[in-house]
Amino acid sequence: MDNCIFCKIVRGELPSKKAYEDEEVLAFHDIRPIAPVHLLLIPKAHVDSLAHCDGTHQAILGRMLLLAPRLAREHGLDGGFRTMINTGRDGGQEVFHLHLHVFGGGERIPKI
Ligand code: 5GP
Ligand code: ZN
Repeated sequence: MDNCIFCKIVRGELPSKKAYEDEEVLAFHDIRPIAPVHLLLIPKAHVDSLAHCDGTHQAILGRMLLLAPRLAREHGLDGGFRTMINTGRDGGQEVFHLHLHVFGGGERIPKI
């Protein structure tokens, strides 16, 4: 995906503050954090959104979810954290490369 900003981050064409990387997953700090810790976990292989995932994405989705508590712990979020996946225009998604928000720290996040 030539013009996808998260693919550009994966390829190193755009800078990011990396928190984790392996062959399939990249995690980096959100450029506009909404909490003291705000990470984005993405599959390196482009997929537009959660609504575009199918059975072939089962493993990567599992890897991303399981990585969340590990990175939260590593970033000091011992009291907990929130995960969020915005999906589609009406779900508030702005970057159409699947990403899992992991954020927390500071004040307790209001209940939704
Ligand atoms: P969405 O609204 O699509 O769920 O979330 C997109 C997120 O990506 C936003 O929180 C936004 O701040 C973040 N973001 C957008 N562009 C960049 C970028 O170039 N670098 C980083 N690190 N985060 C970005
Ligand atoms: Zn992409």
